[in-house]
Amino acid sequence: MNKPLTTAQVAAQTDPQRIPYQKPQPYAMRPDMVILDAMGTADPRVWVPLAEHVAVRPLQFNVTQGQYTHVMRVTKAGMIARHRHSGGVHAWVFKGRWHYLEHDWVAEEGSYIWEPPGETHTLVVPEGCTEMITLFQVTGSLMYVDPQGQSTGYDDVFTRLEKARAHYTAVGLGENYVEQLIR
Ligand code: FE
Repeated sequence: MNKPLTTAQVAAQTDPQRIPYQKPQPYAMRPDMVILDAMGTADPRVWVPLAEHVAVRPLQFNVTQGQYTHVMRVTKAGMIARHRHSGGVHAWVFKGRWHYLEHDWVAEEGSYIWEPPGETHTLVVPEGCTEMITLFQVTGSLMYVDPQGQSTGYDDVFTRLEKARAHYTAVGLGENYVEQLIR
């Protein structure tokens, strides 16, 4: 008896555009990623606390580009420490609002923001906002600075990876949980 055709094979018989790519993927290509529950609703342990009322859900640690992508959730009005970026940042606001002390605009649900390499800023979640959720893709480091720009510390993909690894170990997901997020 012949094996029944897959849905993709049936579709390909009637529409050549639906024929899947037939060749091997390139040598050294890294595995793709899909995180079905990117918001971490099924298992809140995936949220890594950074401070009181601030947590991040890591999506990717790109150690070869010095980049990381995460969802940040802030559940109380407040500030994120003043920092300077060595690389650019893409951001998309899912919920709530925030602004920088250094700018007039306010990012709200549905807003896209690009932070240029070199910029120093201080993120504020305003009074009245009890939940802010934003996707950030950060390249390079956040150098924490005083108001005059003197360095007081930094974060980058490696410090964030270490924090996530420690958290996942502590909550029982295991120190290897982060491996699936590394590219
Ligand atoms: Fe920033």
